Amino acid sequence: MIIGVPKEIKNNENRVALTPAGTQELVKRGHQVFVQATAGEGSGFLDEDYVESGAQILPDIQSTYAKAEMIMKVKEPIEEEYELIKEDQLVFTYFHFAAYEDLTKAMIKNKSICLAYETVEKPDRSLPLLVPMSEVAGRMSIQEGAKYLEKPLKGRGILLGGVPGVRPAKVMIMGGGVVGTNAAKMAAGMGADVTIMDVNLQRLRYLDDVMPANVNTFMSNEYNIREMLHRVDLIIGAVLIPGGKAPHLITRDMLKEMRPGTVLVDVAVDQGGCIETCKPTTHQDPTYIIDDVVHYCVANMPGAVPYTSTLALTNATLPYAIQLADKGWVKACQENRDLALGLNVIKGDVVYDAVAEAYDLEH
Ligand code: NAD
Repeated sequence: MIIGVPKEIKNNENRVALTPAGTQELVKRGHQVFVQATAGEGSGFLDEDYVESGAQILPDIQSTYAKAEMIMKVKEPIEEEYELIKEDQLVFTYFHFAAYEDLTKAMIKNKSICLAYETVEKPDRSLPLLVPMSEVAGRMSIQEGAKYLEKPLKGRGILLGGVPGVRPAKVMIMGGGVVGTNAAKMAAGMGADVTIMDVNLQRLRYLDDVMPANVNTFMSNEYNIREMLHRVDLIIGAVLIPGGKAPHLITRDMLKEMRPGTVLVDVAVDQGGCIETCKPTTHQDPTYIIDDVVHYCVANMPGAVPYTSTLALTNATLPYAIQLADKGWVKACQENRDLALGLNVIKGDVVYDAVAEAYDLEH
């Protein structure tokens, strides 16, 4: 199969959909890989690295799209890319169709085959191509939280791990899923006093079993959350209600109960946020302050660490890309139900229920 890897053109997107290592795996299997010049630069991969792995470099985005049977991308196509996607071309990337009506219409019109990373699903309902980004965001939430606790950045001026003779900071993590667990590991490793809250008792049992002694579990409800607020230094929002908006576990009035300089990192901001006062921010201007409480609400946290994020994402996507390249999308999806669930639009038809429902389309 002929595979094309364009350079991401969405603002501040430095990830790339295929690494030189992935290129080598595909080329070894007899596929041709075309990479747009400088596509990997933002993640630290040079054109020479791709060439050494067997890829050919194309000078621009037009020739990369024109050449390929399968396009591998990271972010959903933006307007400039709509026209470049051809009939029968397979596009394997994040799409988030339910959030972008224009994109959905454009992909219906161009009769391409759209296989969305975010809806590839395993039998246990986990989403293998979203997990790596939750791992990155969860780990990063503590790094950012620790930074904004510093006084010059308007935090309480407390060191997460304390020092001998001085107590460590208290970290409260709301949601003990992928983001929350990764946040807890980092905070615990830095020596903080960590509490993970969740509504799922099974999950709390598991976390209690596997986490180190400086991590406690606590049932998530309003009473318990209020009890914690005046004592914690850093709060991580990591709640997810599948298919729904995040509930506001921390409301506007609760900020008054926190100490000045408390830091809130709402990782769930991409689903509306679990802290009422959180609204999406960017890496250029990540924080704002309300009632002396620092709010960090960057909606695409993994974007700040493209080297790690690219490797984490491509570790997860490559096995699927190999199946698509080796067998073609029809056979690959017939033989692998996880992958078939990624199909969202096929040659003008929306085939994914939630997307069809979002726009009242028949399928
Ligand atoms: P997950 O499904 O693995 O975990 C969510 C957890 O929240 C579950 O354990 C669930 O039981 C728990 N939960 C549900 N209701 C709760 C409540 N009322 N109180 C406490 N816990 C509750 O999800 P995840 O992969 O950890 O993702 C968490 C959020 O992070 C999602 O909104 C996701 O979109 C977001 N995310 C954001 C970024 C970013 O860059 N900002 C990156 C990756 C993921």
